[in-house]
Amino acid sequence: MKYTAPLRQFTRWSWAIALLLMGLASAHAAPPAMTIELKKLSEQVYVAVGEAGPASSANRGFNSNAGFVITKAGVVVFDTLGTPVLGEALVRAIKTVTDQPIKLVIVSHYHADHFYGLQAFKDQGAEIWADVKARHELGTDLFKQRLQQRQRDLFPDVDENQKIVPADRWLNGDTHFEMGGTHFKIIYAGPAHTAEDILLWAQEPRVLFAGDLFFQGRVPYVVGANLRGWLASMDKMTTLDAAWVVPGHGQPSKDPMPGITMTRDYLQFLMAQMGRGADDMLSFDEAYDRVDWGRWKSMPAFDAANRLNAYTAYLEMQQETLKK
Ligand SMILES: [Zn+2]
Repeated sequence: MKYTAPLRQFTRWSWAIALLLMGLASAHAAPPAMTIELKKLSEQVYVAVGEAGPASSANRGFNSNAGFVITKAGVVVFDTLGTPVLGEALVRAIKTVTDQPIKLVIVSHYHADHFYGLQAFKDQGAEIWADVKARHELGTDLFKQRLQQRQRDLFPDVDENQKIVPADRWLNGDTHFEMGGTHFKIIYAGPAHTAEDILLWAQEPRVLFAGDLFFQGRVPYVVGANLRGWLASMDKMTTLDAAWVVPGHGQPSKDPMPGITMTRDYLQFLMAQMGRGADDMLSFDEAYDRVDWGRWKSMPAFDAANRLNAYTAYLEMQQETLKK
């Protein structure tokens, strides 16, 4: 077959475009580094506070909190933020305030926005601890869907090379330890926001890292949660005499009661409304549409989270209705 000149030119161009696309698919420019400003709670304790809304390309996944405690024998870190770039930025930020090595990372729960930064800490030689109930979740469909969603929404900060770093030590229940003269208690608080929720209590500085057990200034994320268990676990936070409580999302607080009350009110509202729907044998859509969401509508993350949250509540309440 004989090509005419324009056709030959077209063929050459289409080859060039195909090669370019293949190149783009296999490699892309590394995302630019980020800088994290730390908030100092005490001589020993600092936090990185993310934005209030959901993770987005605009905030580059910086929508959650992480914190750390400096001891005389090393640094204990609680959560590592939601992308590898953020994890690296947090490591650099820690090094600006202490020469102590980063010894230990505690993962509050295996939600993307709290642990996708783990690799940077692993590279520093830190040991990673999490509750054992997270272990089997690492391979579930929901877990893979979350990863795909992040790869889509936060590309290139989360890409095909995202590492899912498991814990080096899987904890089972409350755990006490001491490092460099500071005493710590890891408090198991699940099943609540997830099956594997843990809190970290740093005794001498009196700081409680609460993970996603309560939210400040945004609609909580309830998907996959156990609402009744969550309500029961909230009391574990109020019995400690904390100088500061650091939530998983929102500003650290000397008085966590407003945030705790807001989270509790929201969970109770979901359960009451979806419970009525389930009792009346309504479909989820019918149950959802008849609720007046007015009080919550103006809060950050309402659009992203509320309907899915309500669905989780509906399923849980439906199970309870069936057992009545
Ligand atoms: Zn979470």
